[in-house]
Amino acid sequence: MKEQNFLDNLVGVFGHPAAENPGVVIQEAAFENLGLERWRFLTIDVDPGKLEDAIAGLKAMKMRGINTTLPHKIEVLKYLDEISPSAKLIGAVNTVVNNDGVLFGDNTDGKGFMESLSQAGISPVGKRVVILGAGGAGRAISVEMALAGASHITIVNIPQDEKMALSLVELLNSETEAEAVYTAWEGDYKIPEDTEILINATPIGLYPNIDEKPQVDYDTIRSDLFVQDVIPNPAFTPFLREAEKRGARWNTGMGMLINQAAINIKMWTGKDPDKDVMTEAFKKVIG
Ligand code: NDP
Repeated sequence: MKEQNFLDNLVGVFGHPAAENPGVVIQEAAFENLGLERWRFLTIDVDPGKLEDAIAGLKAMKMRGINTTLPHKIEVLKYLDEISPSAKLIGAVNTVVNNDGVLFGDNTDGKGFMESLSQAGISPVGKRVVILGAGGAGRAISVEMALAGASHITIVNIPQDEKMALSLVELLNSETEAEAVYTAWEGDYKIPEDTEILINATPIGLYPNIDEKPQVDYDTIRSDLFVQDVIPNPAFTPFLREAEKRGARWNTGMGMLINQAAINIKMWTGKDPDKDVMTEAFKKVIG
């Protein structure tokens, strides 16, 4: 008789709000395809101030790991035993692995982004890069781009809150080989002529604000520029539409999302999921 084992292997996401996080759809499609019958991905709404309790619960229930998303990506660092070098630099963790009670944290946002760039045939080595936004995604992407050999990174951020952008630039200059500068975002941003890669790392264009686009002088987009969005839903944003109109090559944020989820699955289960299966599952929910 087949051995009976009804114990679930639990992973999931801690966020607030959490209801719109599509992780469960992507992850469970991959588990099913891998034949991981008893793996479950739980979408868990953890209020601000309750993360420590939630992490204690994770340990008590022997969950294999967790993704953290807004607003928990920074606070979670306090409760971890080990942190990857790049997550330490980024200052944020989105993936936790529970190795028999020892919690290891990593940041797979930037790694998923880098893989997506590579899938589009773009190498960061020696490139001059402009990144719009200095939040969690902007930090993860800029650190990974710098570690991967980008030569020059301009961080463009609204001047109301310069602290985040200035500390990021300082960190890139002191901890990586890349040269980094900050530009205050006022009015339509003109893309410097020598830019090779332009990245939107703001939430502008994300559902339900699907008609919005970052304030850029789009006529400064040249056809030899590579334009990348982080927004996965909808994938083809007005930002990318403007790039396409000017003959530039572009890439959506969907690859970043799928790649980071695939890296998480590998970290938790040790198995490589089928990214096509994950992409199809995601496309079905975003319509
Ligand atoms: P944060 O809130 O941490 O950062 C957002 C950044 O965008 C900040 O620098 C913020 O500036 C800036 N910003 C926000 N609104 C505007 C605006 N109207 N004009 C100019 N700048 C603006 O968010 P995250 O970095 O965590 O996420 C950003 C986006 O990236 C989200 O939409 C998310 O969906 C996407 N993302 C996609 C992933 C993927 O796998 N595809 C993975 C992770 C994130 P300030 O701080 O000064 O307000």
